[in-house]
Order: sequence, then structure tokens, then C-alpha cells
Amino acid sequence: MRANEINYAIQQDDSIQELIKDAFVCLECGKCTGACPMVELFPQHFNPHHVLEKLILNPEKILEEKDIWFCASCYRCNKRCPQGIELPEIFLKLRQKAIKEKGLKNLEQALAIIDEKIIFLQSFFWVCFHPERIPLEKKTVDKLFEKKHFKKAKAIIPQSNHKVAIIGSGPSGLFAACELIYKGYRVTIFEARPNAGGMLRKCIPEYRLPTNIIENDIKNIEKLGIEIKTNIKIGEDLKFNQLFKNGFKAVFIASGAHQCIKLDIPGEDLPGITNTLQFLENLKNNKIKTLPEKVVVIGGGNTAMDVASAAARCGVKEVNILYRRSGEEIPADKNEIREAENDGVRIHYLTSPGKFIGKDRIEKIECYKMELGPLDFTGRRGPIPIKNSEFEMDADMAIIAIGELPSINYLPEEVMINKDKTIAVNPQTMETTMTGVFAGGDVVYGPATVSEAIISAKKAAEAIDHIFKQNGN
Ligand SMILES: Cc1cc2nc3c(=O)[nH]c(=O)nc-3n(C[C@H](O)[C@H](O)[C@H](O)COP(=O)(O)OP(=O)(O)OC[C@H]3O[C@@H](n4cnc5c(N)ncnc54)[C@H](O)[C@@H]3O)c2cc1C
Repeated sequence: MRANEINYAIQQDDSIQELIKDAFVCLECGKCTGACPMVELFPQHFNPHHVLEKLILNPEKILEEKDIWFCASCYRCNKRCPQGIELPEIFLKLRQKAIKEKGLKNLEQALAIIDEKIIFLQSFFWVCFHPERIPLEKKTVDKLFEKKHFKKAKAIIPQSNHKVAIIGSGPSGLFAACELIYKGYRVTIFEARPNAGGMLRKCIPEYRLPTNIIENDIKNIEKLGIEIKTNIKIGEDLKFNQLFKNGFKAVFIASGAHQCIKLDIPGEDLPGITNTLQFLENLKNNKIKTLPEKVVVIGGGNTAMDVASAAARCGVKEVNILYRRSGEEIPADKNEIREAENDGVRIHYLTSPGKFIGKDRIEKIECYKMELGPLDFTGRRGPIPIKNSEFEMDADMAIIAIGELPSINYLPEEVMINKDKTIAVNPQTMETTMTGVFAGGDVVYGPATVSEAIISAKKAAEAIDHIFKQNGN
């Protein structure tokens, strides 16, 4: 960048100046763009690396650009950036400023483009754009979506006789179903639960995604002609291999990661100890009748922050998070940590549970203070308990939030499984090791994000289409 350009950039107002400073360390390697699922979906409209360039070179114009509305906060860019630039944070601040100073016009333009490709636009908007952080009130968002230019689904009559079975109705399964029906194939989704929507319907807290929004989106998807068979668990109600016998020519596995990992410490089976998905599901279904006073969440990922925030927001007096490494290593995104802290959650770093204590139900947790040792297999400094550092923390409820694994025990042996229980796929086509079987979303990546689930579904749908066409559609 030339010196006069730098001087010009630095004359801008304080908040933009701060953002320019953050962007300034960019090495222009383009890894952010290469990693971004939204670039794969909207290559003509979005390039995060160019947004950084525009921010530095033309800061007075950046708030008028619709590009700032495409980031879906998956943090893949940040994870790949050699400089650790937090692009989603930069986008969030630009959005906050744009709304304040310029209104909704650019957001509307961006949404009209996103609407071309993502049929469940409203759910996507709530979960990936986080209006509560910008902040945009629900009534403003509702008004935005009442505008007529957003697409309404129309029934499609499939031109091909080929049928595709999809296991799971989360964002990955739903997106693959839409792509495949648009390409002319007949699609049936098998869903184990009584309602479609996957994690969006089951666990994501109401303030993050109101239930009526996901329900409307699902109705819209069904209008296309996609059949969603709920209450059918593949492996139990219908065997996996039966799908091919029933005439399906390809299968897309999108069954997510719903098996919560246990801590494996004494007392873990005491009443009052639960896991994130169970707690969030109960909360969503109004099954939590009395609130405990003191809740302890164990874990440091986004889901741990979500569950802690949800507990605090529903009125729990004291919510503590135990995380065994330091703030440097915590995997949760900055936004999520900030949100939890704003909700009154206290994070205890370098603290690990040793055992749960209680007579008839949990009363206390024996904790250890930790120190960081050498790098471990995760590439982070490993936590080591400090001798004689035990202390007790009161807890009426403990929520274990140390991660989720895919449940893949219903799959035949031909489908190769990785050591971490995810399904091994060709990353370009999402094809598994079994002919005609594809997989995407959390069942492949482990707990990830909606935009990643969508992009893997798109790749699989394209590969299925390609194979059908090769074999004579
Ligand atoms: C609390 C929480 C908050 C989150 N917040 C965000 C966020 O803000 N932004 C974001 O981008 N992502 C967020 N995520 C992650 C996001 O929800 C997931 O990455 C996404 O839903 C994965 O989509 P999927 O289609 O792969 O799987 P899922 O959404 O998990 O759907 C899988 C579906 O398969 C069904 N199924 C499983 N086994 C079978 C079987 N044998 N037969 C039939 N059906 C089966 C399940 O019942 C489920 O409905 C959050 C996740 C959680 C838990």
C-alpha cells in the first residue's frame, strides 16, 4: 500500500481506525478466502480478503458495500489465517456501524442475493448473522423478511426417476434435498425425531433462533415436493441397506453429531448432572419446571457458552464455567465468550472438575487448579493438575459441555469411519468409501456450523448429479 493511502486511511474515525489496524497485519495470502464456505456459495459476490483490502484502501466507502453482509461467522478464516485476524469480529463491527449510519439498504441487497441460493433464508439469517449482536430487534428482522422480493417456494415436478435418500433433516440434509430436487431428482428425508430441522429445531436457544422461523422454513421446503418422513430412525426403524433395496440410487448421510462426550469422573451419574444437548432440548420444550440456583458448565467451546448463556437468561442466579486451559487456548469464539460474560456467566480458567459430590443429587464439585505443560496432541499446551490445589464449588446442577460425536453405529462396514468417529469422505465430492453413499455436515466435520453443513451438502448434490448423468440420468 502506498504511503498517501495509509495516511488517508488513518484519518478516519476512531472505530474504523481500530478495524484498519486489525486488518493491517494481513499478509494477503488469501487463506481466508480459500477457507470460506460463503465464498464457495457466492464466488461473484464475496471475497473476505478483498473486504479487508477495501477497508484499508477505501474506508469511507466500506459501510456502503453489501460484501460486509456475507460472512456467516464460521471462523474458518480465522483458524487458517497465519496472522490470526478475527475477520468475523471485523465484519460484526462494520455491520453495527453500517446499520447505525446507513440503515438496512445494503443488508437487503445482500439478502436478495443470498435468497437465490438458500431457501431457509430466515433461519440462516438468525443462526449465521446473529441479529441480536448487531443489534437488530426481532420486529425489524420480521419486517425485513416481509418484503415481497424474497423467494417463495413453488412445487417442482422431478424430471428424473432417480430417488435419493437423505438421513437427517438438519441444515445439511435440507440443503442437499433442495439442491437435488432443483436438479430434477426425487428426494426423501428420513428423520429420527418427531420434527425436522436438526440442531436448529432441537437445541439452538429460542433467542438465537425462534422456533416459528425454522418451522416456516421447513413448510416452505416441503412445498417444493420434498418428502420428510419423521420418526424414522435409520438403523432402527429402517436398516441402512434397505434404502438401496427400496429403490434409492444414492444416499446422503447428514445425521449430525448428537452424542455428548462424558467426562468419565466419579459421581457423573448423580441426578442433577446433564449434558448440553439434553439441557437445551429440555429448555426449548419447556420441560425445566424449577430452576436451580447454581449451575456449573464444564467446557470451553461455543456450545458451553451457549448453554451457560441460556441458563443465565432463563433466570439461574449463578452460572460458572470451568475450563481447564487458559484464555489463550479456549476454543469458543470471542463473540460467544463476550455474550456469555455479558449474561453474567463467570468463566474459571485453568480449572478442572475431579469428582461430583452429593448424597441423592449433585451438591458440590471437587475442582483442581491446573497449569499448562508442554504441547499435547491437540497442538495446545496440555493442562496438568497442580498438587494440593483441590477446592469445592457448590452446584445444584452440572452441565457437561466437552463436545459431541456423531452416532454412526447404524452404518455398514463399507463406510469408513475416522478415529474421531466422523465419516471419511473425499472433501471435493463428499463421497464416502461406499459406492453411492455421500455424507456432509457435522457427521463429517464434527460439531461445526450451518454454513459448513450447507456447503458440504452442495458439493454432495453436485457429485450425485454428476454420477447420475454419467450413468445416464
Ligand atoms: C447449542 C448450539 C448452538 C449452535 N449455534 C450455531 C450458530 O450460532 N451458528 C452456526 O452456524 N451453527 C451453530 N451450531 C451448529 C449447527 O447447529 C450445526 O453445525 C448444524 O446444525 C449441523 O447440521 P447437520 O445437518 O450436519 O446436522 P444436525 O443439524 O445435527 O441434524 C442432524 C439430524 O439427523 C437426525 N438423525 C440422526 N441420526 C439419525 C438416524 N439414524 N436416522 C434418521 N435421522 C437421524 C437428527 O435427529 C438430526 O435432526 C450450534 C449448535 C448447537 C448445539
